[in-house]
Amino acid sequence: MDYWDVHNFASEPAPWDYGDWHHAVLGVGLDTDAGPATITWTDTFYSYGVEVLDGRIEDHLRTGDEGPERVGPDIGSASPWDRYLRTPIRGTAAHWERLELGPSRRADGTVVEPATSVNVPLALRLDFAAGSVWFVAAMPEPPDWQRVFVGGDEIMVVFSPERMRDMGFGDAAFLAEQPVTNRPRRSGAHGPDAADEAIGRRTAWYQAYTRHRNVFASPDGGPYSCPCCGHTTLGERGGYEICEECDWEDDGQDDHDSATVRGGPNGRLSLDTARTRYVADGGVRRPHTPPHQPT
Ligand SMILES: [Zn+2]
Repeated sequence: MDYWDVHNFASEPAPWDYGDWHHAVLGVGLDTDAGPATITWTDTFYSYGVEVLDGRIEDHLRTGDEGPERVGPDIGSASPWDRYLRTPIRGTAAHWERLELGPSRRADGTVVEPATSVNVPLALRLDFAAGSVWFVAAMPEPPDWQRVFVGGDEIMVVFSPERMRDMGFGDAAFLAEQPVTNRPRRSGAHGPDAADEAIGRRTAWYQAYTRHRNVFASPDGGPYSCPCCGHTTLGERGGYEICEECDWEDDGQDDHDSATVRGGPNGRLSLDTARTRYVADGGVRRPHTPPHQPT
């Protein structure tokens, strides 16, 4: 059992243990008697969903000196996993949802892709004699890190149906402790009642995130300086490239909102904090000017 995380900015170990859920950012490697398996997020279905792949997680990640790396868990030290490991997997289930996407626009407002909807596998469940464990493609949501955005490019491992319900999964059959079926379930509808509020929260976060004004610039005018370290490392702006100098992921944040913690790919770091950390870790910032006003 291995959780993998990016080695991102900080030198301290990435936190992952939140009691009844664990944060395995890049995914989970499982050793089984049928061989190694990987549970990770993918964009097969766009947007992000959770999938199981054959083979070791190391073979599915792009590894290097800077990471990613195994961060946990600590098996045998009162880990929630202790009651499940070395016992048979008795069943599995998948939870699909229909997500509304787009439209996507360029910086000048041109619609690149019209609005569409897509079915995405957002969560998987493994059933053991001692209970079930859920794997969700989801990102903790600032400022309350117990809240989440589901359909995100991180993996949360969840040990209780109550936590799943808090995250907006209201399908009683999917939350059942005992195996219901060993075939994937397709669920078109959101769950009722208590889940509605959680769904509303995560939808609100997503809408707030996509409402941020962003700096965009096309590859034609590049390369561009990174808004965090100032080095000329980015082929475009606002294209979610990861700076190879400082690891900042360029989601379009820049001087206009550098104090904001957006969540999203840079997690709990504002651009200002990332800049400070870069220098504190020995980096040398270069002058940076946004190539365009935010739109
Ligand atoms: Zn940078």
